[in-house]
Amino acid sequence: MAARPLIAGNWKMNGLRGSRAELLKIIGGVREIKPTTDLLVCPPATLITGFAALARGTRVAIGAQDCHAEPAGAFTGDLSAEMLKDAGAGAVIVGHSERRSLHHETDAQVCAKALAARRAGLMAVICVGETRAEREAGQTLAVVGGQLSGSLPQGESPAGIAVAYEPVWAIGSGLTPSAADIAQVHGFIRAELATRQGGAARGIRLLYGGSVKPGNAAELLGIENVDGALIGGASLKAEDFLAIAAVYR
Ligand code: PEP
Repeated sequence: MAARPLIAGNWKMNGLRGSRAELLKIIGGVREIKPTTDLLVCPPATLITGFAALARGTRVAIGAQDCHAEPAGAFTGDLSAEMLKDAGAGAVIVGHSERRSLHHETDAQVCAKALAARRAGLMAVICVGETRAEREAGQTLAVVGGQLSGSLPQGESPAGIAVAYEPVWAIGSGLTPSAADIAQVHGFIRAELATRQGGAARGIRLLYGGSVKPGNAAELLGIENVDGALIGGASLKAEDFLAIAAVYR
């Protein structure tokens, strides 16, 4: 069965307590969004508890941007998946390219984080994607295939994970791959998941991420095997985030 669309916002290191106003605008605008479209807002960890309280009972889920693989211990500055769940998160992004590049996270670490998310009862949004150099060298599918096999836990229930294809060069750049290129990568990811999960792979949400805006959302979300979006910059403005989600009619 085809997956329910998921529109997820990654606020990155943006947002203070005053940003609650933006979340309230999203919550207020949700009635205009098709009931079968799921919405997820991932603010900085400092805001999860407050946001989760505001969003309780609404269609907006609150998520985190990263977690540690261990449930507890001597890991100064880190947060476990259990802590994020306790704070009110329902999901966590793992393996974002900024974590992979700036924090040197490996596929094995991303997989351990995804497993930790599932252990805590969080949906894991697992990010993959090639750099510009890798794309220009014709290595996109090999890179994405390697990240998939290294970062995805085996045998996860489709509702427990989502995969976000985010070409590194498209993040925050205003650039996007062509629709044909996105269709090729998403088709490849679906096929890879099917070899692991069989027919259940159709239920795993495949998100596209990288410079999704209200102006290009209809085209990007209309591509085969694209079940939603992971949005950075445009998720910071409620109006833009809702306009992207409103593409599903
Ligand atoms: C992201 O960082 O996950 C992202 C997709 O960013 P942007 O939408 O700003 O390109």
